[in-house]
Amino acid sequence: MKRAPVNKIIPFSNVDGPGNRTSVFFQGCPFNCLFCHNPETIHLCRHCGVCVEKCPAGALTLDAQGQVRWDSGRCVQCDACIRLCPHDASPKVRWMTVEDVMGEIRRAAPYIGGVTTSGGECTLQNDFLIDLFTEVGKLGKTCLIDSNGSFDFERDPRVLAVSQGVMLDVKAVDPAWSDQLISYPRDTVLKNLDYLLRVGKLYEVRTVIFPDRDQENEATVRYVARHIGDGCNYKIIRYRPFGVREKYQKLLGEFTAEADYAEKYAQLARDLGAAKAYVV
Ligand code: SF4
Ligand code: SF4
Repeated sequence: MKRAPVNKIIPFSNVDGPGNRTSVFFQGCPFNCLFCHNPETIHLCRHCGVCVEKCPAGALTLDAQGQVRWDSGRCVQCDACIRLCPHDASPKVRWMTVEDVMGEIRRAAPYIGGVTTSGGECTLQNDFLIDLFTEVGKLGKTCLIDSNGSFDFERDPRVLAVSQGVMLDVKAVDPAWSDQLISYPRDTVLKNLDYLLRVGKLYEVRTVIFPDRDQENEATVRYVARHIGDGCNYKIIRYRPFGVREKYQKLLGEFTAEADYAEKYAQLARDLGAAKAYVV
């Protein structure tokens, strides 16, 4: 039976797509974005044991096979384990089946319009998503994919057939800035931008605006706005240092990007035809 690593499930979220939705966060991401605000979702636990002794609630143990076990009943959600993990991982990941996840979705079902899968990078679990969305569809709910764009949707469009669309991060288009910021070639992301637009499956594009990075911000916003026009939402996100690893805060900024500064880019996007650009 297929299992996937799930970092957490938020039963009711109003920031992960339209309306009230259940958000499923999968563990693991091929990017290593400097500004990631939940870096504990990047890697799977290596069972190094560093966090076990530091747990104030005795919720972590090492079993006879040297695997870290998490006792959710004892856990007080202090996140000490996450803060001190040297591997950008979490000991609280659950390896769940589609039925396990559906159990949680069904409990929330009377109050939600749909389900959004996120991460980490949920498309690393493509086959799992296809099965999950097929089940969610039977409940009459919509399915959205929150993605960093590393998965080539044109090469394997099966998951699009069982979902309503993708919320795509376009973090950087300048090659040098992209290499520095996300440690991953941006080509697939930009290819996805074109493809998802073409097939009507691009629900939203998101770009983070960084303080004092005028040239880089503008290049990305211009590129995206010219591509999407009024074809989908364009969310301009203010960089926030909260959760960002300390060493990268020094590089990117220790303060939130000003609202006016971000609005300048939203206006630029609207001037270029992206009518549905707005700041969050
Ligand atoms: S969560 Fe991190 S610190 Fe804890 S055992 Fe896993 S890799 Fe080690
Ligand atoms: S969040 Fe981590 S450190 Fe805190 S109680 Fe739970 S398992 Fe222990």
